[in-house]
Amino acid sequence: MSKITPQPGIMDIDLYEGGQTHVEGVSDVVKLSSNENPYGPSEAALEAYRRAGYDLHRYPSSDHAGLRKAIADVHGLDAERIVVGAGSDEIIAFLCQAYAGPGDEVIHTEHGFAMYRLSALAAGATPVEAPEQQRVTDVDAILAACTKRTKLVFVANPNNPTGTMIGGNEVARLAAGISEQAILVLDGAYAEYVEEYDGGAALVEARDNVVMTRTFSKLYGLGGLRVGWGYGPKEIMDVLNRVRGPFNVAGPSLAAAEAAVRDVAYAEKCRIDNARHRIWLSEALAGHGVPCDISMANFVLARFADRDEADACDRYLKSQGLIARKVAGYNLPNCLRITVGDESGCRRVAHAVGQFKGGAR
Ligand SMILES: *Cc1c(COP(=O)(O)O)cnc(C)c1O
Repeated sequence: MSKITPQPGIMDIDLYEGGQTHVEGVSDVVKLSSNENPYGPSEAALEAYRRAGYDLHRYPSSDHAGLRKAIADVHGLDAERIVVGAGSDEIIAFLCQAYAGPGDEVIHTEHGFAMYRLSALAAGATPVEAPEQQRVTDVDAILAACTKRTKLVFVANPNNPTGTMIGGNEVARLAAGISEQAILVLDGAYAEYVEEYDGGAALVEARDNVVMTRTFSKLYGLGGLRVGWGYGPKEIMDVLNRVRGPFNVAGPSLAAAEAAVRDVAYAEKCRIDNARHRIWLSEALAGHGVPCDISMANFVLARFADRDEADACDRYLKSQGLIARKVAGYNLPNCLRITVGDESGCRRVAHAVGQFKGGAR
């Protein structure tokens, strides 16, 4: 046996499997497995990205001042308390690295986003799963899971892969009730899809134990560039800036994200289109006998009778060039997560599910 071994916890991490991108022998594929914006980023973001191509020999900004100011202007926040990361995944990793280690506990919900568990393990901490109530975050179950060792509590609101959301009073009750040495992390990856929702920013400002994370990968259509951000109390942001590498986000990524966040009209158009198509898709699926919970995000969680039926439908969708996401790894083996595409993507999915339920295999 080699004496070379990684830190405890690392080998408990399963290698991440991304959403599939093509199907053997099928052309005209629609990828609905990674919750991407079907329209891509705004023209302004593309233009800023192209212009950044002239400066590839330059190191990027290390304080991300331009992007932080744009985010602060648009969302009405304090730029000094924003930290930018290579995707919000990196902010999640910074939080675990800085606040949780061996012997510490990191709470996530039963069907919570996978990165919470993975980042906790990578930091040597112990992930703790709190049950949900019919695929909805259960504040009382999280409070019951809190101990003296709890350092972080991750809640995505809306959650991925369920799409469900809890209200502001419940979130505030959670923030007030967690252990005094713990930070509540509100993951707002889908906050932009919810009308009149600040992602938890007001709660961050009202308290000293709440951090909000956001991303450019979903509504802003910039998943390929890896940009996300966190907003929290100054003391916590100072800590994250110490573990953050000085050049953690690439120049073209910063430039495109800054233009994207300032293009408020495009973001609004994407939000409205998504809401319309999401309602249409949920109703069409329900009409074919496939119910979904009420989703507040850019995907729906389609529920089948059992795992066999979900797997068979996934295979049928693939044969039709439609790639959905299996979510057995999220304790939801009888479900498929389907990203809300453009109008034609939604029609194709609804049609294919109808054919499947009608006996096509
Ligand atoms: C997609 C997603 C993220 C993060 O994505 P990044 O691309 O790393 O910004 C974070 N949380 C949830 C719940 C997500 O679905």
